Order: sequence, then C-alpha cells, then structure tokens
Amino acid sequence: MSSTQRTAIVTGAARGIGAAIALRLAKDGYAVGVVDLHADKCADTVAAISEMGGRAVAVGADISKPDQAAAAVETIAAQLGGVGVLVNNAGITRDNLLFKMSDDDWDSVIEVHLRGSFLMTRAAQRHMVDAGWGRIINISSTSALGARGQVNYSAVKAGLQGFTKALAIELGKFGITANAVAPGFVVTEMTRASAERIGISFDEQVQRALTRIPLGRPGRPEDIANTVSFFASEDAAFVSGQVLYVAGGPRG
Ligand code: NAP
Repeated sequence: MSSTQRTAIVTGAARGIGAAIALRLAKDGYAVGVVDLHADKCADTVAAISEMGGRAVAVGADISKPDQAAAAVETIAAQLGGVGVLVNNAGITRDNLLFKMSDDDWDSVIEVHLRGSFLMTRAAQRHMVDAGWGRIINISSTSALGARGQVNYSAVKAGLQGFTKALAIELGKFGITANAVAPGFVVTEMTRASAERIGISFDEQVQRALTRIPLGRPGRPEDIANTVSFFASEDAAFVSGQVLYVAGGPRG
C-alpha cells in the first residue's frame, strides 16, 4: 500500500501545527481525518486540502472523552478507509506557578494531552494491527525538559515521550512505529495566547525565545509538519520509539 491509499488522523487540526500537519500529510497523498473540538472549526483545513485535490473529512470530538475519541476514529475509518497514521497533536496550556496552579489547571492539561492521546491511540491501533502497518506520532515539546510555570504541561509532554517508547515496544511486532516530535517555540495561537497571559507583546515573546534558538528564527508549523511527514513515511520504517527535538538547536 502507498500513502495514496492510506488514511491519517490528525487531532487539533483546525489550526496551528495540527493544520500544517494535516496539509502536509494530504500533500504526501494521505486521506486525512481532521479532528478538533468542533467540526465547523476544521472547515479551513478541509477546504485547503480539497483545493489541492486531496481528500479530508472534518470530525468534531473532545479527544479526552472515551466515547467521542472512539467515535471519531470509527467515523474516519468508515468514511476514508482504515487508519494508517495517527498524529496526537491536540493540546492546551494552563500555565501558572505551582503555588497558584488550580486542580483544574492540572487535570485539564493531563486529560487532553495524556488521556486524549491514550484514547485516540487505543481506538486507532486496532485498524493498524489489522492492516499490519501503522505510524503513531505524538507531539511532545521542549517543555518536557522542564519549564517555569508549566509543571502540568512539562509533566504531560515528558509523559508522552514515555508513552511513545512503550507503544513502540508493544506494537512493533505488528509493523507499527511510534515516535515523538518535540517542538521548541513555534508561532501559533498557543504561543500568542501565552504572551498575552504573561502580559507582554508577541514581538517581545518572540525576541525572548530567539535568545535560546541558535538558528535565529522562531519555528513555523511547517517545520513540525515536515518532521511528522518523515516519521509517517516508508523511509522511517525502521525508526521507532524516538524523540526528535525540532527547536532550531540542540535539546534533549
Ligand atoms: P493551538 O494553535 O492552540 O491548536 C491546538 C488545537 O487543539 C486547537 O484547535 C484546539 O481547539 C484543539 N484542542 C484542544 N483541546 C482539544 C480536545 N480536547 N479535543 C480536540 N481538540 C482539542 O496549538 P499549537 O501551537 O498548534 O500546538 C499543537 C501541539 O503542539 C500541542 O500539543 C502543543 O502542546 C504542541 N506544541 C506547541 C508548541 C508551540 O510553540 N506552539 C511548542 C511545543 C509543542 P480549541 O482552540 O477549541 O481549544
């Protein structure tokens, strides 16, 4: 089977990094299930894929809810045919210093990133095992190495790396690889919102980030999408359980 006969699911694909991944995988030939909280928010991503001659369906689902995650996978598998690639990208931040962090700030970040990725992967792996082929790609972060004001987010991004390695060990015998991409600072709504929360302009936020980026520019969603494309490809068939930092310089 080539990528043109396979289906990829990308969560959180209404905008930002997820939208860029969905577009890139469509360019690579995949039919794409575009998942986000609300189907109507996925319209731009689906339209962009259709304009380039690709196939995509929009599915609204809160991936942290078991019934919604399972239904999203089954709807996409039924409409596009199986599931070959799953990209666990959907995410939220609820940053705060530890002493000010609420129970809800902690729980909601754990639920979306860890529970959401677990639920989507459990539902999708069945299709991959049946086909004897699969690619699971989890979006981690440089925050996995620790970040001020992000004990919740750092914990889940490090957790996703362990999740990835355990998946690689369990699922390798079915022809399924699992890898993680750990972006550094990427210009999206998420980083814009975090500048707003800290009370600085986005330009200042970018300037601060640049002091830690040897390549001298912030990341673009396409930088992450290009890496995901490699992990999804046949060329990456013998690469599994790895974490690739895509941060304009060394990490990890
Ligand atoms: P973004 O622009 O905020 O996009 C995230 C998308 O995920 C949003 O459309 C959001 O919907 C959706 N989402 C949130 N909770 C969901 C849920 N329960 N079910 C389904 N969809 C949900 O973020 P981004 O910057 O593109 O980030 C994408 C991924 O990269 C995240 O995992 C993030 O942690 C990671 N990352 C980002 C950066 C960066 O610098 N931007 C760096 C490292 C890692 P709503 O808007 O409706 O909430």
